[in-house]
Amino acid sequence: MKAFANIKVKNWEEEFAVRLFEQVAQQTADDQGVSRPAYSSIETATLEYLEMCARDEGLHVNYDNGQNAIFCLQEDKDAKDFVLVGSHVDSVPRGGNFDGLAGIVAGLICLVKSQREGRKFARPVKVIAMRGEESAWFGPCYIASKALLGVLAENEQSATHKGDGRPLIEHMSDIGVDVAAVRNAIPLMDSKHVLAYLELHIEQGPMLVEKKQPAAVVSGIRGNIRHKRITCIGEAGHSGAVPRAYRHDPVLAMADLLNRLDESWLTILQKGDDLVLTCGMLATDTATHALSRIPDSVGFSMDIRSQDITALDEMRELLQDEARHIENDRGVKFQFDEEIFTAPAMCDAGMVEDLTQAQKRLGQNAFVMPSGGGHDAAVFANAGVPTGMIFVRNRGGSHNPGEQMEISDFLQATEIIFEYLTSPQK
Ligand SMILES: [Zn+2]
Repeated sequence: MKAFANIKVKNWEEEFAVRLFEQVAQQTADDQGVSRPAYSSIETATLEYLEMCARDEGLHVNYDNGQNAIFCLQEDKDAKDFVLVGSHVDSVPRGGNFDGLAGIVAGLICLVKSQREGRKFARPVKVIAMRGEESAWFGPCYIASKALLGVLAENEQSATHKGDGRPLIEHMSDIGVDVAAVRNAIPLMDSKHVLAYLELHIEQGPMLVEKKQPAAVVSGIRGNIRHKRITCIGEAGHSGAVPRAYRHDPVLAMADLLNRLDESWLTILQKGDDLVLTCGMLATDTATHALSRIPDSVGFSMDIRSQDITALDEMRELLQDEARHIENDRGVKFQFDEEIFTAPAMCDAGMVEDLTQAQKRLGQNAFVMPSGGGHDAAVFANAGVPTGMIFVRNRGGSHNPGEQMEISDFLQATEIIFEYLTSPQK
């Protein structure tokens, strides 16, 4: 997969970025896009490639107890307190190459730039390439950052892999993560030494394309309520022989539930609150389903997100209430798996201001926006680490091979981070 087909390389930053993006894309190519499963050997190989590139530039590299790679200038390798810049290396199945990887490459460029140009960081900087962030493989999201901060919940540790059905904690153990610490909720990284956390990420919605902005400063990140599987159980029957009044059709019950949630969604938006809702997976039992059979059950997923915790609480209650009503109306039963919850997170107001000032000093239009997608940054923010994020314009959506980031946009966004890191702190 060629990430940038027709590009003429102008400077070392561009050459460096293009080389890393293209090499990782090739190394992790799937039949479409890239697949870098969380806690897999492909993910490890990606970290090893980044390690090699960093060592070639004379950077210091080590792995933390979560088996994430950490890069820094030689002079900062023993720094106790540091600014952490990073993102994740894993991807969704057949995903885009820049989701996650862009944030790590940006961090590496900042390190190399400081070294090559002799521009000192105001505070020591460590760049982290984290493992599993995507929920596509096990269900829980932000796995590596939660493990780092000692907040990977027990039900998340035991979540099973979509392919082999083995629990997450076993996959983590296989690659050498300190799982005893994870089990005991002992942080793998002491957050009081993290002076700030900063993440560059592609925007996963259309806002920056619409606004003709190459980069933006992020104000906050939506939290989410997730159910990997809700099962609606009804009663099987012949599609031609059972009259409507005698049916307990789980598919229509599920559709009824989704419709009711959709109506409430609109009401919440009309109140001016933030909310998005998605049912991304749904299926009847392939072993028994048939064109002419009323199915006995249907399974579906639910992903509800908002910047506002009260909107999430309201939707949780509504989901249960509506399910109970539909059970009574239609003679079906809804079974919920354990909810996976991630709280919304606000970026640090001081950092939003500093990053905005940095963007202005570089002659860019200042632009601040919320993040629709979830990011590791949310975990750091909720652990009390001052957190900031930069978005890069991205066409073609995200979590698919069509994602498209211009290298010039990426370098402008990286400049904001470098300007921030090299500016004196108030
Ligand atoms: Zn991401």
